[in-house]
Amino acid sequence: MHPLLNADLHSHSTLSDGTLEPEVLARRARDQGVELWALTDHDELSGLQRAADAAQAAGVAFLAGVEVSVSFAGETVHIVGLGVDIHDTALAQGLARTRTGRLQRARDMAAGLAQVGIQGAFEGALAYVTNPDLVSRSHFARWLVDTGVCRDHGDVFRRYLTQGKPGYVPHRWAGLGETVQWIRGAGGIAVIAHPGRYKFTPTEEYALFSEFTAHGGEGVEVLTGSHGAADVEKYTAMALEFSLAASRGSDFHSPEESRIDLGGLPDLPATLEPVWQRIWDRVRHPAAGPAQAIRPPAPG
Ligand code: AMP
Ligand code: MN
Ligand code: MN
Ligand code: MN
Repeated sequence: MHPLLNADLHSHSTLSDGTLEPEVLARRARDQGVELWALTDHDELSGLQRAADAAQAAGVAFLAGVEVSVSFAGETVHIVGLGVDIHDTALAQGLARTRTGRLQRARDMAAGLAQVGIQGAFEGALAYVTNPDLVSRSHFARWLVDTGVCRDHGDVFRRYLTQGKPGYVPHRWAGLGETVQWIRGAGGIAVIAHPGRYKFTPTEEYALFSEFTAHGGEGVEVLTGSHGAADVEKYTAMALEFSLAASRGSDFHSPEESRIDLGGLPDLPATLEPVWQRIWDRVRHPAAGPAQAIRPPAPG
């Protein structure tokens, strides 16, 4: 057991909706004391080789990850895959299919915003995009803040980009079962991301956890940038009830926008099994650096 391992298993680069390049993130992770880092861009694997090389150079142990957009019970749910093979074809094809439609969705979002008098949002948002396959609501949010339409990202999502608001366009993402299968097929472990953010009824949430585990999902984020103390308590209990391993990840996107920096979360509750113990064989260890001190988990 290494309960005190500073693992940060959820973060975003410019290959999705983060503002830092994978190499910059790797060095920032090292500087923030992260001992085990995962890059988990939305629906995208293309930053992972760069991240792995940069983590190696920075002396940080690394897990290849991805955050998959899933539709479940009329809501978008995010499932993080950790320790995936970055060359797995079925995973790559599934994600490619999940990404299609983002560009049209962005045009539709801009049309919705135009109807309330906000012109030029498509071109505006696109100027913030590095990966043309991955136009996201975050890119619209940056444009809406920088042009002075909104005060901050919270303001953007509240007024324009969530269900029922002018820039919101419902979208059909991947299925829960297929997503868990893609991740498992690529040798990874599937984790429910930031469960405290979904607007489910207790029955729907129970269904999510039940179906997820039935499909072979094995983990849940107990510690994440958007969880308060009550969420941590609740999902600690859920992890124990469903025999899920626990993950810890800041969901870092940007130094200007993210509340929690890389490696900035507290330790996982001692009653929980850390996810990294189940995928230790997937960790890429650096040749030298602080992570040399990390030992594999004790058997059993
Ligand atoms: P998309 O995948 O295009 O639907 O964009 C979802 C992304 O928007 C998330 O991954 C977050 O980075 C960001 N996001 C969603 N809701 C909020 C919120 N309330 N405040 C700030 N960022 C948010
Ligand atoms: Mn995001
Ligand atoms: Mn997410
Ligand atoms: Mn995320």
